Amino acid sequence: QVKLKGRSGVQLYDPAMGDSIRRQHELGQALREAMAHDALSLVFQPVVPEVAGHALKMEALLRWEHPVRGVISPAEFIPVAEDGGLIGPLGRWVLFRACHEALAWSGDTVIAVNVSALQVMSGELLGDVADALRETGLPPHRLELELTESVFAHDFGAISRVFGALREMGIRIAIDDFGTGYSSLSYLYRLPIDAIKIDRSFVRDSEHTGDQMLRAILGMARGFGYGVVAEGVETELQRDMLLRMEVDFIQGACHAPPMLPEAAVEWTRNYTLNARSAVRPLGKVA
Ligand code: C2E
Ligand code: MG
Ligand code: MG
Ligand code: MG
Repeated sequence: QVKLKGRSGVQLYDPAMGDSIRRQHELGQALREAMAHDALSLVFQPVVPEVAGHALKMEALLRWEHPVRGVISPAEFIPVAEDGGLIGPLGRWVLFRACHEALAWSGDTVIAVNVSALQVMSGELLGDVADALRETGLPPHRLELELTESVFAHDFGAISRVFGALREMGIRIAIDDFGTGYSSLSYLYRLPIDAIKIDRSFVRDSEHTGDQMLRAILGMARGFGYGVVAEGVETELQRDMLLRMEVDFIQGACHAPPMLPEAAVEWTRNYTLNARSAVRPLGKVA
């Protein structure tokens, strides 16, 4: 296979490239149809408090049942939506669905919604969030938005205005996949952020390379006064290690996989009934 870019910086021909562009285009078209024909759905995964004083959260995760290819991962189709100008309508749909589902959950369970940096920069996020809350009647303190560090690549003033307005509305903000992207400590410190979600690669790697990275991220988050979520925690061993470090929330297979809406309702009900005693997943894995 020829390299995409030679040392001279000259673009060389890559026969696979035409294919991949065509594939992206087809995927974009199919996504448009999926949005029009209700082929998208949400599943929900618990983000479980491990110290007193926090409410349970459930993260909304998009699923796309493709007629031919089966279930396609959002890691694959979110970038397609972003490139194809579909992230606006898609993001709005997710916000409405997620807030609507959250109404069926017990107590103060928070719905965590993933938001693309493009939604923040488009200028439409505040209006979309306000609409979703007004039309569903969900109180703002029950909504949290998850943004990856890619948002930090944009102008501080612009992000700061959006984050500030969200905070004013009473909505929480978490930084997702923390430690894998571009982060400015100064942005991180100056923006109104509530929590950091440590990327699951750090949890996974800590078993082989030690826990220094996790400790460093935790130390920084504590210094800034932010809550810490560990994501992708699969084993009891990993969970025990993180509990010793006193992370605030744990999300991952060790607690429960993402589940269908009906199972999520039942899971939150059982969780609130049993307070914080070990709750096990009841629902079907989605
Ligand atoms: P994320 O926000 O970091 O979500 C966590 C991902 O880790 C999810 O993958 C979840 O299913 C997976 N996961 C949870 N527990 C475990 C575990 O114990 N082990 C392992 N190996 N994986 C675990 P998923 O659902 O495929 O989503 C991938 C990414 O797609 C999400 O990563 C998020 O960045 C993006 N995404 C999902 N839904 C949306 C959405 O509605 N809007 C936007 N903009 N992005 C979304
Ligand atoms: Mg997330
Ligand atoms: Mg994440
Ligand atoms: Mg992640």
